[in-house]
Amino acid sequence: MNRILLEQMLHKMRSFLIKGKNIGDLKIGALYALGNQLDAVYYFVGHELGSTIETGRDHIVDTSILIETLKNFSKKYHIGNMIIDEYNDEHITFDLEDCPTCKEIEVPSTEISQGFCSFEAGLFAGLVEKLTGKHCFAQELECKLQNKSPNCKFMIVIPKD
Ligand SMILES: [Zn+2]
Repeated sequence: MNRILLEQMLHKMRSFLIKGKNIGDLKIGALYALGNQLDAVYYFVGHELGSTIETGRDHIVDTSILIETLKNFSKKYHIGNMIIDEYNDEHITFDLEDCPTCKEIEVPSTEISQGFCSFEAGLFAGLVEKLTGKHCFAQELECKLQNKSPNCKFMIVIPKD
């Protein structure tokens, strides 16, 4: 976390607010100042949640069965609509339509280098770990807020044992 940068952002926010100016971009700057720790914390929380949800399934080895289970989970818990891009035994890439983290946020005018949706990445990683019994990880490849694609795009990596 960059405390100095954060203070500068807060200072600017106060002066912008008093002039009636929009502080949207400053909020993004403040988020940037908070740094990757925030991403890591969201990922961790998502992972904890995903790995503690009762799925009724374990040790799934067939990736297509795994995908069906994930799609059902997404629907049941309202965490967006999974649109599968491609998959094999070691990874799944998919678009998440109506990603809960960013669906209500307007695409910022400032270019952002990384996505906002590490919570969902952690959630899917935790869930796949629970369903396969393997140590997995997931990453948001593209975020809707980066204005490159209409949905957030994720990759889940399932290492071979
Ligand atoms: Zn996103």
